[in-house]
Amino acid sequence: MEIPPILRYGCAMQTVSAALMPIPGHIDPVPVPRGVQPRPDGRVDLIGLTKDQLREALLSGGMELKQAKLRSKQIWHWLYNRGATRFADMTDIAKAQHPWLEERFVIGRPEVVEAQVSNDGTRKWLLRSADGQDYEMVFIPDADRGTLCVSSQVGCTLNCRFCHTGTMRLVRNLTAGEIVGQVMLARDSLGEWPSQPEGRMLTNIVMMGMGEPLYNFDAVRDALKLVMDGDGLALSKRRITLSTSGVVPMMARAGAEIGVNLAVSLHAVTKDVRDELVPLNKKYGIEELLQACADYPGANNARRITFEYVMLKDKNDSDADAHELVRLLRHYDLPAKVNLIPFNPWPGADYECSTPERIRRFSDIVFEGGISAPVRTPRGRDIDAACGQLKTAAEKKSRAQLDREAEEKFAALG
Ligand code: SAH
Ligand code: SF4
Repeated sequence: MEIPPILRYGCAMQTVSAALMPIPGHIDPVPVPRGVQPRPDGRVDLIGLTKDQLREALLSGGMELKQAKLRSKQIWHWLYNRGATRFADMTDIAKAQHPWLEERFVIGRPEVVEAQVSNDGTRKWLLRSADGQDYEMVFIPDADRGTLCVSSQVGCTLNCRFCHTGTMRLVRNLTAGEIVGQVMLARDSLGEWPSQPEGRMLTNIVMMGMGEPLYNFDAVRDALKLVMDGDGLALSKRRITLSTSGVVPMMARAGAEIGVNLAVSLHAVTKDVRDELVPLNKKYGIEELLQACADYPGANNARRITFEYVMLKDKNDSDADAHELVRLLRHYDLPAKVNLIPFNPWPGADYECSTPERIRRFSDIVFEGGISAPVRTPRGRDIDAACGQLKTAAEKKSRAQLDREAEEKFAALG
């Protein structure tokens, strides 16, 4: 089922007041606004700012240094530990200062366009940014945990053949505020403020929603740092997993600067098949990818790398594929586990899911090779919330169109 076309209402287009700059290097061609961006009404959204940026924001509003140091700490705690959305609720900040803050700052949340609940309890939210971009997040409750699947981009540039998100053109990267904003919104909706170490429903985060997180590195890193900060949302890095389709040049930085668990969308063991399924393989091949996994800091037997493997009928699911998978993971001496994902269908997909018997056999072979290979139970299929089914009705724009628009905005700034 496609997500129904969405009525667009009253969203002011964000005027970009700072330069739109391409991210340096060849790995991310997407122009993004850099630095702290005021909204059209001139106010700055505090969500997504680091502690230092928050202090800077207060200073640039004219607050003197000592005050700014104190207030930024207090406000930061209210935002990320207590989930406050109004300055008026910040009881340790003098009432007289509230209007000053309200004039200059807002505490934003993504707008919820639609919320759906699957018959297995999975929830999906369709969210909208201030400039009218739609993206999705999914919450998957289990007996012993609750996992939030977070998006990093609106759409994806990578066009994996079996993924519905891949049929969207990339509209844009999400900002750090929009990424951490998904976690804040989930906490709001689950009633989990203030942050507490025990008894939470939201226990785990996976960067497995729309988009390729390593093509939006800075924003993903900044957002996850906020999520992991012990004074705030306080989720342990061991409970966060970043999934990549194999952006090899960014993997070492992900390990060093973020340090969360790594999942790699492998999906095939031969060049031909992986080139077809994950076109990025033409740029960064299987050997290079597995070597980057072997070099990933912190990977050991207690903290294994997850290899995701989507089960596609007669494409990547033979006994020989399973044996080759074991051989490759052993060859690189990888502390690995394999997640076998039954293919989630979507309209117009070129593939079918392998039969349950085939998946079982494949799993057995990998197990016999000494590597754990559980079969993932699809969740939320009835509301198109399962892996690879996320796709919003966002306006599709070509790369050239986006570049033209970025240039026009840039030129308009003089
Ligand atoms: N872009 C990142 C993270 C998002 S996708 C990545 O590709 O790793 C999360 C997982 O769902 C990936 O392993 C992806 O390959 C898988 N997936 C995509 N489409 C799917 C589908 N139709 N059925 C099952 N899994 C799918
Ligand atoms: Fe993008 Fe991941 Fe889908 Fe590939 S599988 S198109 S990288 S979201």
